[in-house]
Order: sequence, then C-alpha cells, then structure tokens
Amino acid sequence: MSLDNRCGHTEVQNEQKCCDSSLPEQNHSYANMLKVLDACAEKLGVCWDDYVPLRYPERELTVSIPVEMDDGHVKVFTGYRVQHSSVRGPCKGGLRYSSDVDLDEVRTLAALMTWKCAVVNIPYGGAKGGVQCDPTKLSSQELMRITRRYTAMILPLIGPEKDIPAPDVNTNAQIMGWIMDTYSAFKGFTVPGVVTGKPVEIGGSLGREDATGRGVLFTINQIALKKGIDLNKASFAVQGFGKVGEAIARLLYQEGYRVVAISDISGGIYKEDGLDILDLSNYVKKNPSHLIEGYKAEGISSLANQELLTLGVDILVPSARENQITEDNAGDIKAKIIVEAANGPTTPEADQILNEKGITVVPDILSNAGGVVVSYLEWVQNIQCLMWDEKKVNSFLQEIMERSFQEVWEFHEQNKVPMREAAYMLALDRTIKARKIRGNFP
Ligand code: GLU
Repeated sequence: MSLDNRCGHTEVQNEQKCCDSSLPEQNHSYANMLKVLDACAEKLGVCWDDYVPLRYPERELTVSIPVEMDDGHVKVFTGYRVQHSSVRGPCKGGLRYSSDVDLDEVRTLAALMTWKCAVVNIPYGGAKGGVQCDPTKLSSQELMRITRRYTAMILPLIGPEKDIPAPDVNTNAQIMGWIMDTYSAFKGFTVPGVVTGKPVEIGGSLGREDATGRGVLFTINQIALKKGIDLNKASFAVQGFGKVGEAIARLLYQEGYRVVAISDISGGIYKEDGLDILDLSNYVKKNPSHLIEGYKAEGISSLANQELLTLGVDILVPSARENQITEDNAGDIKAKIIVEAANGPTTPEADQILNEKGITVVPDILSNAGGVVVSYLEWVQNIQCLMWDEKKVNSFLQEIMERSFQEVWEFHEQNKVPMREAAYMLALDRTIKARKIRGNFP
C-alpha cells in the first residue's frame, strides 16, 4: 500500500508533493533525507496525515551578521538556525562554521538531529545552526565577534526550554562559552543551560569533549559482538582527524586496537601493524595547521583520502563530512563494517550499493549520538545545578548507547531491514506517536 492511498486524499497529496516549489524537498540534500524518510514511513504503514508535518522544518531563520574585522572594515556573514521539530522536546543540535554551509545543509542536519534524539530516546527535538565563514582565515577576536552577533541575531529562538545549540564542525567549547555569555548578558543573569559543550569551568559536563568518540567506541563494541568480530584482531581505518575522528582513533588505540589508516584534508597515512595514535595526536596538536601533514614515523606510508575509504580493513569509520561514500566509490569499498561517525557520510545511492554488497552500515543517527547524549546530560546537570563526575557521565552514556543499539538491532532483525532503515523507522514511530498524543493545533 502506498502512503498516498492510505488516507484517501490521493489527488491533493500528489499535487502538494510535486508542485509546491517552496517545499524543502526541492533541494538536494534535504530531498535525499526525505527519500529515506518517505520509504521508512511507507514501510511503517503510517497514515500520511500523521506523517506529513514531519517532512517540513518547523521554523527557519536566516540572519546577516555584520562584523568589524581586525583591519577595521566591516564584513557581513550569513548565518542560519533551523528548528526541524520540537514534538518530543526542546530543539537540540550543533552549530557549524564553514564556507560551504547553506540553508539546505543546515535544514538536513536539523532533521537528522530530530531522528538522532528519537533513536536514542532523549527528550529533544532537532535543530541545527551554521555560519558561512572560513574559520581558518579568522582571528580569535573575529570569531568571537561573529559568534556574539550570531547569538544576538538568533536570540529569540534559543533558550534552555526552546533550542539548545552545541558544537559541530569547526566550533568548540570556547565558542559555546561566548554563546552562553552573550545570551546571559541579554537576559541579565547567567543561563548555563542555553548551550551545551561549554568549558567545564562554566557548567560544561565532564566527558563531553570525547563523548561522540566514546559513543562510537561503544557502538563498535556492540556491532563486533553481533557480527562475531574479535576486535583484538581487527583493523580500523578512520577518515577525519578532527574533534570526532581524533577521539575515536585515540580511544580505539587506548583499548589496544589496531588503527591502520587515518586521513584528514591534508592527506592520509597508513601502517599495517597499527599507527601510534597518541604520538599522532600530539603532533597534530602542536602543528600550527592542526593537520596530519608533515607527520613522520617509522614504517608509515602515505595514502590519499579516497584510498583510505577503499582499504581492506574490518571496520571503516568515516568521521569527516557528509557525502564521502558515494556511488562512485561504494563499489570499491572492502570494509566488512562501516560505523558512521560523521553526519550523512553516505549518499542514498551508495547506501544501496553497500547493502547489495552485504556490508553492514551502522547509521550516523545511532552511532554518533554520543555527543548529543552527553549534551543532554550536561543540560540535565545545568537545569538542576548538579555536577557529576566523569565516571557517572560515561556510565549513563554507555547505558543509553547500548540500549539504543540493542533496540535498533532487534528492529533490524525482526523486520529484515538494514540498520539505517531500522533506526529511521524507530525514530519516526516514536515521533509520530508523540505528535498524535499532542494532536494538531488548532
Ligand atoms: N553536533 C553534534 C551532533 O551532530 C552534537 C549536537 C548536540 O550536542 O546538540 O550530533
């Protein structure tokens, strides 16, 4: 049965689906997300009327950010905040700084946050923000002024009960600190819960910095158990060596596992019997470009980013940006398992090829949820004025990640669908149920 037929409004819906040029589905990456979502809604057998509101972001804001640069001239940057859904709770999601940020990307990532928070069953909806800028060309003072003005511009939208930003690509704890300070200055009192991923000195949570990486590690442990892989004998390739990739590689290394390849935008390195990740991390920290370029160690060879993706490793962990595994390279991928640490690293076309090849893909909305889970724990501490030790935070994180993995795995086995579909279907089911309970207003 098709979605369009189910509620008896076939004609109107078809017209609405195809002809409204204001629909987000006209755009590329949001359209890809909708394709996956529509297919999952159809498999779930939900009524179109219950589902259709979730295809649209609830609220979108584009702002201009005039900033005085260090040389005295004024430059205007563009920023976005998209709230995809507040059905299950306040909107939640990161803020990224990058030259290629646009509304379509932010909108797609906002929707992914809705599904991510629903998969791990934390009481949040989804949001995302972005500022179009190249942080490598900005001084720290310029970054601060952009952040403060952006915060002022999106101020009516954010707040601990409304929408809570967090770090994402090219943003960090210091930037979250500026957001918290700017918001608090406008309110006239300190509001730690407006943002997560803050420095611990001002209400950040212990364990937040490594949370995404640690969550990926818990996910790897779970999938290895299910697939009968001995991690002590397994090989790993990690694409990306930023906040997330570095933490994953380091945590894997500290477990005694063999990370044979790492890459970032400057290129990649390979060592058959395993890289010394602590040594590499120290090098990158000290390197002014914060890249792996120029790293030298015994027995390493260099490799291109594309080569890393197609290495014959047991577990491939894409931890960089979206659309890295595409129909052009998916056919050459030899890893047994892909654990997605980045958001949206696999295109839908590539996903299909990987499924046909029998490669297990643990989807982003499950495997990289550790960041937002510890964001949730930070927010819970903030609004109750609590301070937990790291052991407590990590054990909550482990509990939530393992429970969520188990739920997605069971759904995948029972319904004989790939893990990505299982995760989306679970998330959709939870969100649609919440919507139905709340009802339509007015
Ligand atoms: N940016 C992270 C993500 O994409 C964390 C979001 C958050 O903590 O709100 O999941």
